[in-house]
Amino acid sequence: MNDDKRTNSLRLTCPYCGSFARVRTSEYISEALITGLVECTKPACGWRGHFDFTITETTSMC
Ligand SMILES: [Zn+2]
Repeated sequence: MNDDKRTNSLRLTCPYCGSFARVRTSEYISEALITGLVECTKPACGWRGHFDFTITETTSMC
């Protein structure tokens, strides 16, 4: 059950039970905004929710 070993992925936590929550779907809205659906990995919990990933500030440019 360790198929997805992408590095640098965001580690989200279920706000309900504190277990690891996994991104189910993500939608690219713009360069600075991605939204999606996140789901708790604990079957007994079953929490799902939406997230926004927003770039809030540019700290450096090349
Ligand atoms: Zn949970």
